[in-house]
Amino acid sequence: MPEGDTVWRTADRLHRALAGRELLGSDLRWPSLATVDVSGREVLEVVAAGKHILTRLAAGGDDPPLTLHSHLKMEGSWYVERTGDPHGRRSASGIRAVLTTREWSAVGHKLGMLDLVPTEAEHDLVGHLGPDLLGPGWDPAEAQRRLTARPERELGAALLDQRVLAGVGTFYMAEACFLARLTPWSPVADLADPAAFVALLHRLLDVNKHRADQVTTGDLRRGREKFAHARSGLPCLRCGGTVRVAPIGTPPQERTAFYCPGCQRGPTPTDDGRPQRPLGSSGRPTAARSYRTRR
Ligand SMILES: [Zn+2]
Repeated sequence: MPEGDTVWRTADRLHRALAGRELLGSDLRWPSLATVDVSGREVLEVVAAGKHILTRLAAGGDDPPLTLHSHLKMEGSWYVERTGDPHGRRSASGIRAVLTTREWSAVGHKLGMLDLVPTEAEHDLVGHLGPDLLGPGWDPAEAQRRLTARPERELGAALLDQRVLAGVGTFYMAEACFLARLTPWSPVADLADPAAFVALLHRLLDVNKHRADQVTTGDLRRGREKFAHARSGLPCLRCGGTVRVAPIGTPPQERTAFYCPGCQRGPTPTDDGRPQRPLGSSGRPTAARSYRTRR
């Protein structure tokens, strides 16, 4: 699933192609929008809000300004091609939206969500989101407040919750937990410095927003770009131990979390799905009885 930086880059690309231009055609292949035509309207701007993309359209006659809201979900994408390009991909299967201007056409492929609402009602779609890591009004203090509001919550699950802060997916969740040296199943309360952690998240997305390939290690060499995500079974770049993977969250919202047991302290799932904790310095389990020891 694309993360906040990828969505930001998509919105930026759409904005540069469409903003200030009139739509000469619109083709919304979505059941609830099949009869809607927004051609004739000017595209005012395209912005990202967390993982949501808002394409804002000017008023059309007496009709109010509209916002075309899309979400890429698991495998969606928007691409831009020259209008009339005979080699364009707009005839491919899976197309959900085509917005055409004189020069450029934006093609939405396998979008996970598509809605059209009055711009003044955007809040209904994205108002639940926490502070947007790449938004113009990024508010680290509020992000920290929301993150620490439930100190007992699993850190990884809190990071994936877009109501806490908007833009983090499984990639940045895994990498940020690695950098904080805590497993994703650790309680939020175990963060040594929540403010520094929120700043780290912002920095990770911000440095990657112009890149197609995300890097969290500072090392651009292939295979060394990231510490944990999608590296299960491979040696950890820091300690040489084996990176592991396990589910986090509760079905059907279960997601995948990668971690290094050597570098990250805190609970980890056992084979029977029950969390466990490493031994404390006393040699006894450090937490509640429901946790069993692994070593
Ligand atoms: Zn390690």
